[in-house]
Amino acid sequence: MILVTGGAGYIGSHLVMALLEKGENVIVFDSLELGHIETIETLKQYGTLKFIKGNLKNLDDIRGVFMSNKDIDSVVHFAAYSQVAESVKNPQKYYYNNVYGTLNLLNAMLEFGVKKIVFSSTAATYGEPVYTPIDEKHPQNPINPYGNSKLMIERIMDDYDRAYGLKSVRLRYFNVAGADSKSRIGEWHEPETHLIPNVLKATKDKSFKMFGTDYDTVDGTCVRDYINVEDLAKAHILALEYLKNGSETNYFNLGTKTGNSVKEVFAVCEEVKGSKIPLEICPRREGDPATLVADNSKAKEELNWTPVNDLKYSVKTAFEWEKVLNK
Ligand code: UDP
Repeated sequence: MILVTGGAGYIGSHLVMALLEKGENVIVFDSLELGHIETIETLKQYGTLKFIKGNLKNLDDIRGVFMSNKDIDSVVHFAAYSQVAESVKNPQKYYYNNVYGTLNLLNAMLEFGVKKIVFSSTAATYGEPVYTPIDEKHPQNPINPYGNSKLMIERIMDDYDRAYGLKSVRLRYFNVAGADSKSRIGEWHEPETHLIPNVLKATKDKSFKMFGTDYDTVDGTCVRDYINVEDLAKAHILALEYLKNGSETNYFNLGTKTGNSVKEVFAVCEEVKGSKIPLEICPRREGDPATLVADNSKAKEELNWTPVNDLKYSVKTAFEWEKVLNK
């Protein structure tokens, strides 16, 4: 049995869908503060899914999950706050939820002898890039509390491996994009801050705000590595298999090794939508590095993972999902 924390959220729900379609039994633990009960109801149609509402900040909530489900053998841990700007304004929220919440999860795992975890880490643990593309040897110097909270957890996991034999795979996501290929689930944040959904949601009354056109890049806008959410889900399944095979603690970048500028993404969105999208050029958003692109060789070689869906596919599926959300 696999426990997925944050399984009602954007990325977590795509992993749960992939696991259910593989015939795995899954428990989702989610506070529903950011996740959606509708997502759980959809997922339940595709396999054996048990949903437990709870908060990692309450040790008893997560202990109870292990206590009443003795067949949990591995955990995939998504539950976290993930907005950089908010983390700068309210670091307490981020450290308390992300770090303390994960400590509770790890303590419960140790108490019940569960020693395999796949963890959602982030490119934000690298901070301002020193070189590009970024491989796993790149120094980790986060520049905001969100990145710090994720790096702290990576360090805790190393110490827990040395001391208690807890094995972890940390997946450092670049920019996750797209939705389920059958439009059953997708990205659903309120408020939405991410590029692709914001471009697709733009209207005459609420134009898309492009943050910064004076960066040192091909066209002056920020360059990012957009990794498709279903490709990302597959990497988690490979990471679970990797841990099941008795492999050691490890960490991998998940990206495509291809960078796209905000202007390029905007153009793909217009092409997919088949119409002009209202655009407003705005000043830079604080804390955005000019370029973030992953060197994904390590995940390819050691996890046997190959992303197959390109940016256009991600935009197409995101567009189809937007129509479902707006129904
Ligand atoms: N971006 C933008 N307008 C928006 C949202 C994002 O211009 O409404 C830009 C943002 O400044 C960054 C890129 O799009 O350069 C990707 O931002 P996103 O928030 O999707 O992901 P992040 O890189 O922050 O993880």
